[in-house]
Amino acid sequence: MKTGLLYGIVASSKTRVRCVFCGVFIPKANKCIEQHTNGAKHKENIELMTENGISFANDMLYCKPCRIELSEEESVTKHIESDGHANWVAAMEDLIDGEFISLDPYLNSDKEDVYCEVCHSSLQCTLQNIEAHVNGINHRTNITERLKPLNGIFPVDNDDEVWCKVCNVFIDNTARSILDHIDDDDEHMEWFAEIEDLIEEQDVSIESFLANEYEHNAFCNRCNLEISCNPQTIEAHVNSDAHLSHFP
Ligand SMILES: [Zn+2]
Ligand SMILES: [Zn+2]
Ligand SMILES: [Zn+2]
Ligand SMILES: [Zn+2]
Ligand SMILES: [Zn+2]
Repeated sequence: MKTGLLYGIVASSKTRVRCVFCGVFIPKANKCIEQHTNGAKHKENIELMTENGISFANDMLYCKPCRIELSEEESVTKHIESDGHANWVAAMEDLIDGEFISLDPYLNSDKEDVYCEVCHSSLQCTLQNIEAHVNGINHRTNITERLKPLNGIFPVDNDDEVWCKVCNVFIDNTARSILDHIDDDDEHMEWFAEIEDLIEEQDVSIESFLANEYEHNAFCNRCNLEISCNPQTIEAHVNSDAHLSHFP
């Protein structure tokens, strides 16, 4: 990204310049300009531009998500708070939540695409397009495949079902019923919430328990010790003197 003293500053009159990002006028003196462009507010606005897909070219601000050039009266913050922009951001974040699609490369470059990590494909970043993609059968299937080893879901002999190791239940082997189980089953979600709460910042990992069908243990990296992977044992372990004495 371009920076430098005059980044965002355009001529206004004989005595004043205008900061396009902040929507303010500044006396036309190097010292004043420098003070402004080194200020926290100005830097914060540059950061907001990067996070919101707003770029600066030919003395104008352009918002890529909204596909408009901002008028002279509109500062970066004013535009971001406008309904059109705020709604786009909210709708987009809602669509890509949990979908392994990151908006950042789209927002802070001049790319028109985002990348779907589970489908290994680029897609044009419009609400309509992303909505169609995340609801598509290929994407749902790929998401399911990605989530299985993170959720303790395993194939069984008959292809019609899968097995959830965490809940010890069989589930129909369709993307929809597996995702329903992962996202909506109370017992499943409670187990994860409880364990994640217990192991947070405790260096205890449950990845191999979830990814390997025959692994019974979680692993405490702090104590270099295997512990039976259930809430009771993990709770007892993270509160034990042995574990606490290994505090880094
Ligand atoms: Zn400024
Ligand atoms: Zn916008
Ligand atoms: Zn996808
Ligand atoms: Zn489950
Ligand atoms: Zn430990």
